[in-house]
Amino acid sequence: MGYPEPLPQRDLEELFGRFAWKANGQSAITILGDWVERFVTTVYIPELDGVPAFGGKFNGRVRWHVRGVEQLQRAFREIGQTGLTKHILLWGGSFVPRRMRGSARLSRHSWGIAFDINPSENSFGKEPAAAGSRGSVRDLVPIFEKHGFAWGGRWREPRRDGMHFEIARIPDYRTQEPECGAHLFLDGRESGVRLILKEGVSYASLRLLAAATGDLSAGEDRLIPVAQYLKARGFRVSWNVREKAVYAVRE
Ligand SMILES: [Zn+2]
Repeated sequence: MGYPEPLPQRDLEELFGRFAWKANGQSAITILGDWVERFVTTVYIPELDGVPAFGGKFNGRVRWHVRGVEQLQRAFREIGQTGLTKHILLWGGSFVPRRMRGSARLSRHSWGIAFDINPSENSFGKEPAAAGSRGSVRDLVPIFEKHGFAWGGRWREPRRDGMHFEIARIPDYRTQEPECGAHLFLDGRESGVRLILKEGVSYASLRLLAAATGDLSAGEDRLIPVAQYLKARGFRVSWNVREKAVYAVRE
């Protein structure tokens, strides 16, 4: 299947640039010249604000390559809108100039195009945590892949790296469908709840739907069929194919 694969070194340098460096201890390196100043920026990702990180809570400010900002923001926004942020138990970092584990080559973290999540449950060289188990990133993988990230959990032994995601291509968003399925309008107003389409049925996060409709009885968050949920709460539901939107009006 056509999963995003890591960029060959030549394409990587063409897209994200090359820099001179010198070793700085065991695996760390120092990037020379003004490359970092020119190409590495700080992006605020609200979905990561307050997520645990090594040595405290992460402030959501991701050090990242300027050319990869849009896909990073869009991927995490989609994770937030689909109620999947809860799967991010620990932020393992992004821009870190260093060599790859057990190799002379540089890690993609050196370019600011890679990040790690949930390292304890998805450690290097091991099978990543199974779907549904604590710390599994598998529900996030389709979203990151859609936004052009390669997942290290697909790499062959002994280099399996389930915590690791890196840019494999820069998506051209101008030619793509709206970023996350369809929109939900409640009583004529855009609800902010994004819908996921699966085989003709729209699903959304129970927690987000409940918040948007003022339903206080919602239990644990999960993806649920939207029309069924809204009809049971007295909404008339219609689907506008052209606008990719679901309209629900309280009867
Ligand atoms: Zn990594």
